[in-house]
Amino acid sequence: MTQIGGQPILVLPEGAQRLLGRDAQRANISVAKAVANAVRSTLGPKGMDKMLVDELGDIVITNDGATILSNMTVEHPAGKMMVEVAKTQDEEVGDGTTTAVVIAGELLKEAEELLEKKIHPSIITRGYIMASQKAIDFLNEASDTVDFGDDERLNQMAVVSMTGKAAESVGKHFAEIVVKAVKEVSDESDGKITIDTDYIKVEKKQGGDLFDTTLINGVLIDKERVHSGMPKEVKNAKIALLDAALEIKETETDAEIRITSPDQLQAFLAQEEKMLRDMVESVKKAGATVVFCQKGIDDMAQHFLAKEGIFAARRVKKSDMEKLARATGATLVMNVKELSAGDLGAAGLVEERKVAGEAMTFIEDCKDPKAVTILVRGGSEHVIDEAERALNDAIGVVSSALEDRKIVPGGGSIEIELAQALNRYAKTVGGREQLAIQAFANAVEVIPRTLAESAGMDPIDTLVELRAKHEDGTNKAYGVDVLRAKTADMFSLKVLEPTKIKRQAILSASEVAELILRIDDIIASSGKRAEPSMPPGGMGGGMDMM
Ligand code: ADP
Ligand code: MG
Repeated sequence: MTQIGGQPILVLPEGAQRLLGRDAQRANISVAKAVANAVRSTLGPKGMDKMLVDELGDIVITNDGATILSNMTVEHPAGKMMVEVAKTQDEEVGDGTTTAVVIAGELLKEAEELLEKKIHPSIITRGYIMASQKAIDFLNEASDTVDFGDDERLNQMAVVSMTGKAAESVGKHFAEIVVKAVKEVSDESDGKITIDTDYIKVEKKQGGDLFDTTLINGVLIDKERVHSGMPKEVKNAKIALLDAALEIKETETDAEIRITSPDQLQAFLAQEEKMLRDMVESVKKAGATVVFCQKGIDDMAQHFLAKEGIFAARRVKKSDMEKLARATGATLVMNVKELSAGDLGAAGLVEERKVAGEAMTFIEDCKDPKAVTILVRGGSEHVIDEAERALNDAIGVVSSALEDRKIVPGGGSIEIELAQALNRYAKTVGGREQLAIQAFANAVEVIPRTLAESAGMDPIDTLVELRAKHEDGTNKAYGVDVLRAKTADMFSLKVLEPTKIKRQAILSASEVAELILRIDDIIASSGKRAEPSMPPGGMGGGMDMM
């Protein structure tokens, strides 16, 4: 930026396109709305699936908002910001992606109407910020609690998060697995529970059906033992984790070793053999019966290990080594010579077993494993992939519920409550911000409205009915019973959701809406377009959106 006579001058590159003021806002809002529309129909248990086909003809069939958006090529910057919302939601809490994106779209749609009424964007964003803060407080206050031991509710929440996904039929089975898995990896300190869901490994193997999906109390690694002379099965295993090669290091420089007589060659080979033998000896002396090596294992070392009856696998992924450490209590050792009994971990059973014709190593029956594996089985790749997404949603839901211990009724009921609370709040604020807060209230009602539509109900009648039920304070948990196409009490239907997911959805939706509303100038370098252009409906056409 240069300055002439105190005036800043923007120097645009040649061919750049520029949109200013209302045009910029209009363009951004229309793109954001299109992105929200693209996922809106997937919301809820009767949500439809999308089939995504990429340039190479690869197909993804899914009902998952984050997956749909991450598979779409969205080029317009406002569209990209919307895609980010889904990503953030997915990373932060693991579920509620569609909800977040749909609310963001609706907030912008409401904002557009306010802009038409000549309300300044800065007033709208201020109102939205106030409303979102109020909403977070309200959600916390309106929450019920769930205890660590309340498996019934935790299971139900997991089931709710998976209904409508391909895995619906096995919902109960999956829910039990997920609740057990999440509890297993949870840590408690000072009465606070933290859960690192990275320690739940989801391994997929085609074959069998979804009901064959199992939880392994430990780690499953996609490796076989290095030598057929090794035992296939080791009970009460003492496990060594090595981040060092059981090989003779190649010289770093291009050194040449000149051997001039057969004796020397013999001595040289004997020396190599001794070094490898020593390495295996260290492993044995420490008392290990199983070795997982992050690096390579020399043929000769394999042979020695096999002779000692030690199970060994090599080139184990770093992430798996970390999980093995958590699951077995072993410490990762960088130098074999330093391995001692104290570094070893334990597992009731280490066994190489065939899954769908491929040898894999199961490290199971770990005491208090803190790292577990879900082995997903299913008839086809598409089914397994969608099952994995459903499991991830459920893992997010159960861990959110356990960490936060707060839950709210779903089916759009909490959104109706929230809208009414915001409308009451708006009146106390007054001024023009009041209009923005009311707009925010209308926007969150998009959730019950969309659920009603998906059930084939009249969205307006349903909203009117629900509002009336909530108004008198006696039916606070009334929402849309999507499966029976009527309104019902969500507590009795057991449609419950973690508050954390709702909070995050509101937060990220309002953040992106505020961000987009603040933009009044789009400068696109040549080759990029400031104006949106997109296929009708936002999808199809190779999933491009620009
Ligand atoms: P998201 O990506 O936002 O999680 P979903 O497709 O999982 O989207 O839909 C979640 C919405 O569906 C929530 O508002 C939830 O309360 C609602 N929902 C889930 N199951 C039911 C049900 N059986 N009856 C009514 N609403 C339900
Ligand atoms: Mg969900």
